[in-house]
Amino acid sequence: MSHLKKNKGLIDFLIVGQGMAGSVLALTFIKAGYSVGIIDQPSLSSSSKIAAGIWNPVVFKRLTKSWMADALIPELFKFYQSWERVMQTQFIQERHIIKSFSEEQEKNHWLKKSQGHEPDNDFLDPHIYHDLPIDEHYLLKNYSFVNQAGSLNASHFLKETRSFLKSQCDVLEETFDHKTLQLSADSVTYKSLKATNIVFCEGHLIATNPYFNWIPMKPAKGETLTIYSEHIKLEKDIFNKGFFIMPLGKNLFKIGATYEWDVLDDIPTQEGKDELLNKLNSVITSPYRIESHEAGVRPSVIDRRPVIGKHPRHTNLFLFNGLGTKAVMLAPYFAKQLVDSILHNKPVDEDVDLNRFKNYHPGTSS
Ligand SMILES: Cc1cc2nc3c(=O)[nH]c(=O)nc-3n(C[C@H](O)[C@H](O)[C@H](O)COP(=O)(O)OP(=O)(O)OC[C@H]3O[C@@H](n4cnc5c(N)ncnc54)[C@H](O)[C@@H]3O)c2cc1C
Repeated sequence: MSHLKKNKGLIDFLIVGQGMAGSVLALTFIKAGYSVGIIDQPSLSSSSKIAAGIWNPVVFKRLTKSWMADALIPELFKFYQSWERVMQTQFIQERHIIKSFSEEQEKNHWLKKSQGHEPDNDFLDPHIYHDLPIDEHYLLKNYSFVNQAGSLNASHFLKETRSFLKSQCDVLEETFDHKTLQLSADSVTYKSLKATNIVFCEGHLIATNPYFNWIPMKPAKGETLTIYSEHIKLEKDIFNKGFFIMPLGKNLFKIGATYEWDVLDDIPTQEGKDELLNKLNSVITSPYRIESHEAGVRPSVIDRRPVIGKHPRHTNLFLFNGLGTKAVMLAPYFAKQLVDSILHNKPVDEDVDLNRFKNYHPGTSS
């Protein structure tokens, strides 16, 4: 493999898309000593730009650990903190998630899961706390904390990564035209760029990719609001009661998020806004102002696992997608796994390998 900075020759990995997937993967390749080139069109749909960036290692419905949380959380800290040092900025903030209990049954379930000799879930604080003021009118009677949760400032991470990548390699800000890609056994050529391999990280726009549009995705549109309030007392921790209120600083709070599977676009809707405001107003009765309303599409897969690996026919075509609702947690671990698998020529985990969908491949596709 070559170790070029600005790509004056053959690039190791050309990456299409610089959302969370493309960003984390590009940095992981660079750390492993590979050269990369990026093609990303800033005006196209990107859920990373509007993601709340929360990581939560707990599934609230059953109070179980979320899938692979024990492995994903350490890798998350390692990855973002090491790039914070390189880029000399802050990307992540560890925060508790405040889980409110409205019923006795919920409280007992939490205690059962978090206490005892060998608690089922060590991300759950084993105590119940009382009387937390959320604003002047709302006192949270019973609550507890999820530990080792937090948030990534996703838009800041994308921006800083873009600048860093521009200093290291070619970054083309244009729409990738799949028809222009030329494939040969040992390289790919796109306009003036020649690479050994290409990785597609296009989020839900995978649907427009003729090489991978057979992957069974189940994208979910989501909406969030940002509000300004001088009355909400949350400073750092994230409030959760079937929706979240996340403090952003300077009296700003992110409220989210909705799920919708039928209309898949980035257009904020009145229904989405009403749904979020209804939930917010059930807690906050003090005045606030809506600052912004955003929408995006989560690239989820039918089995809700990432989808990564090598194309069944073309050995220099790769996919890194399917980060769904949990890009912040999943991307560092699985980018490393994809890079390690390429380095050591071993398959990625069965659960995430795109090969699990090989029967969906039309066979006649490009
Ligand atoms: C409302 C909402 C809230 C969310 N909150 C969280 C959260 O709190 N925590 C969390 O972990 N996740 C969250 N997510 C999910 C998260 O945003 C996604 O999993 C993640 O952003 C997916 O990243 P991606 O890089 O795969 O796709 P995207 O972010 O969509 O990026 C794809 C990139 O590829 C580019 N692209 C695509 N096609 C082309 C082409 N042909 N040519 C050039 N460029 C192209 C696009 O411009 C874009 O930059 C949320 C999502 C939504 C919608």
